[in-house]
Amino acid sequence: MLTHDDHIALALSGGKDSLTLLNILVKLERRFPRSRLTAVSVDEGIEGYRDEALLLAAKECGRLDVEHVTVSYKELFGTTTDEIVETRPDKTPCAYCGVLRRKAINKAALMVGATKIATAHNLDDEAQTVLLNILHGDPMRLIRSAPVLRDVRGRFLTRIKPLCDIPEKEVVLYAYLSGLEFQSIACPHGAEALRNDIRVFLNQMDQRHPGTKFTLQRSAERLRELLIESAPVVELNDCERCGDPTPHRLCEACIMLETVVA
Ligand SMILES: [Zn+2]
Repeated sequence: MLTHDDHIALALSGGKDSLTLLNILVKLERRFPRSRLTAVSVDEGIEGYRDEALLLAAKECGRLDVEHVTVSYKELFGTTTDEIVETRPDKTPCAYCGVLRRKAINKAALMVGATKIATAHNLDDEAQTVLLNILHGDPMRLIRSAPVLRDVRGRFLTRIKPLCDIPEKEVVLYAYLSGLEFQSIACPHGAEALRNDIRVFLNQMDQRHPGTKFTLQRSAERLRELLIESAPVVELNDCERCGDPTPHRLCEACIMLETVVA
């Protein structure tokens, strides 16, 4: 996933996963003098939730002496998740928030001159996403959720998920044993309903049939190899609004923003 001279931009939310990954990457980075690590946080504008997490993120970066950059939806997109929920109560906010967060992290990573983006998705997240893609009827999306996502056209920064084989329980254990202070309250806008059901189902399966999550992750890896072979490499344009690479006229985020920002 990494080379000795990478400048890693770590997406740091202030939750247990990203704070754990921060602690692990700091140890790694110190062994490689030409590598660099910058933590990148996104303020989505979720009152009473994100503020606490951002404080915890900043505190840990201070303790570990890691450069920390925060960008906000308000400054980048002129709106916040709270405002989007108010404008579009009919839509699940996770759909918007996820696309905008990905874009915000990309922008911040490019801003600091990073070579790779690391996110703290764990095995549970990954196994859930595999089933979610299939239940949404969109198996081609499996390609985009790969543990290492390299853009052959070189237009997007490579994204890596170093914790993708670590069960959530073990991440929690690491965080507790390391005495990490992390955000424990859930987002007030709730989580995606289908993902929640899949989480419950997979936990039950893994309890009755240990290794289910690993097996699912392995199956997805093999499926990805086959899917990539059959998926044509799409040419990218510059988004007419923001200039970011996109296969369409406007990028996904700009299309979404059109429907929520007056
Ligand atoms: Zn755009």
